Amino acid sequence: MRPDIPTLLHDIFGFTAFRGVQEQVVGRVMAGQPTLAIMPTGAGKSLCYQLPSAALDGCCVVVSPLIALMHDQLRAANAVGLRAASLTSVDADWRETQDRLRNGDLDLLYVAPERASQEPFRNLLRAARIALFAIDEAHCVSEWGHDFRPDYRLLRPLLDEFPDVPRLALTATADAHTRKDILVQLGIPDDGLIISGFDRPNIRYAVHPRDGLTRQLSDLVAANPGPGVVYTQTRAATEKLAETLGRSGRSVRAYHAGLDPAVRARNQAAFIASEDMVMVATVAFGMGIDKPDVRFVAHAGLPKSIEGYYQESGRAGRDGEPAVAHLFWGAEDFARARQRIMELDQSRQQGERARIAALGALVETATCRRAILLRHFGESPPPSCGNCDNCLSPPASVDATETARKYLSA
Ligand code: ADP
Ligand code: MG
Repeated sequence: MRPDIPTLLHDIFGFTAFRGVQEQVVGRVMAGQPTLAIMPTGAGKSLCYQLPSAALDGCCVVVSPLIALMHDQLRAANAVGLRAASLTSVDADWRETQDRLRNGDLDLLYVAPERASQEPFRNLLRAARIALFAIDEAHCVSEWGHDFRPDYRLLRPLLDEFPDVPRLALTATADAHTRKDILVQLGIPDDGLIISGFDRPNIRYAVHPRDGLTRQLSDLVAANPGPGVVYTQTRAATEKLAETLGRSGRSVRAYHAGLDPAVRARNQAAFIASEDMVMVATVAFGMGIDKPDVRFVAHAGLPKSIEGYYQESGRAGRDGEPAVAHLFWGAEDFARARQRIMELDQSRQQGERARIAALGALVETATCRRAILLRHFGESPPPSCGNCDNCLSPPASVDATETARKYLSA
């Protein structure tokens, strides 16, 4: 007989308890019920399929959009003793993995959506015992989402071919439209939706107009000794700022997609191992990086969306200890955003305008920042959180410039 779920939770993962909705989601999966779990970054989505993969007979097929993400997860899963493999273009052990799948020697098999939807892969699954389909980053299936990946649309026929295999879709970011769309696209009934709270109470939010950014960031870095991430908007700014901030003697590195892959990997590994490093990075940095003790995240300019901001700032304080998220913005950010919108296809302009207006509301409010974030995700928070700049020191007079609106309505 297999050990029960609490025993597996402890013996495999070393956790004494589930967090938040994990228990509910795992329970549904074990009962074979189709589920869409909306859980914030850091909430522990992986466990929701990794634990069942150890408890169920057969292999859990995990669909994931990025090879780097898959390989991080693979390493972590193998490290705790799960039998995990992937079938991607960079894997050399395809034959062995296929044999292991057929012989029932795999708990987890990671694949990209384009591979999962192809006939040879479906054929392989027919010869194996499949216990669960887990679709990670499921917002990619929706055009309403902020990261649409057409390949995710091809998954449905695969899922439907195995009607007895439960499906679990997971994502951190999905507004009401996107949620509904994910349910429809993946064939999950409405009552399969599980939403966990989006609040990250240990993160203190603070927003500042840019006013000598380099000095502002130097002060911030000096005041926060723990590991931190500074998000910049361009690759060039990343390297320049890293150099400037490094002059204080603090260990600082840069990360962006244009760096040599070996340098990138080295910098990322150094950051994960460090207790005081500052990473100056574009948003290419962070997805799938599990560093629980990041003490601050700073945005040197306006993020792309509230979803992006929530996800990036959410990389702070995953260990539950106090952390801060600072956002520095200027009117130019909105002017640039408006410029970008003008160059877009007519059909996309309205959505982009809404995205920027939501950011305008966040940076210009004199009320609780957390309330604005949480309302964006459909929650009804109390009017004051006690842990953002506006709640901690209410602005003396309301700033009536309304920059965002001005720049958007012209
Ligand atoms: P997500 O995919 O939702 O962003 P992860 O699956 O990467 O989150 O998990 C985030 C962190 O939380 C990981 O370090 C993981 O080990 C930890 N974690 C997950 N579940 C638990 C739990 N029940 N108790 C303690 N830590 C947990
Ligand atoms: Mg994840």
